[in-house]
Amino acid sequence: MKNTEAEKNALQRMKPGAITIQGFLGTDTRSLADIIEADAEEFRRLKLDPEEAADGLERLRDAGQAGLGEPITVEGRYIVSTGDARGVLPCPYGDGVFHKNSVTVDDEQSGVELIYSDLSLHLLRAHGFCQGQGSPFRLAPEALARLLG
Ligand SMILES: [Zn+2]
Repeated sequence: MKNTEAEKNALQRMKPGAITIQGFLGTDTRSLADIIEADAEEFRRLKLDPEEAADGLERLRDAGQAGLGEPITVEGRYIVSTGDARGVLPCPYGDGVFHKNSVTVDDEQSGVELIYSDLSLHLLRAHGFCQGQGSPFRLAPEALARLLG
């Protein structure tokens, strides 16, 4: 992937304090293209489709919403809690705005815990972006494979 102007703008918006306080890059110093390519490689190795992974997380979010903010057990293995904040967040790529929510999934089977939002799901689904290493909201392919496996 080439380092386009759009990508440079997205990278700026992913830095801490632009869209969210923590930003989307964690401690990762690689280029956006390198982060995305490395994760795409990992998805291929794991034979996991990022869109299917996003579908799976979306399903858990929807099931978790029945708890109205309280943690509930889903499918006998996931402890899911969902929280909502007022307002929306724009995608760093500038192609939409997303409800500011937070979903925590704790998988008792694999021990994996992930925290995500509608924006995280969009970044994964539409841009193949799992967020940088060290980001508390990173959806690492390996963690997704264990959580959804
Ligand atoms: Zn987007």
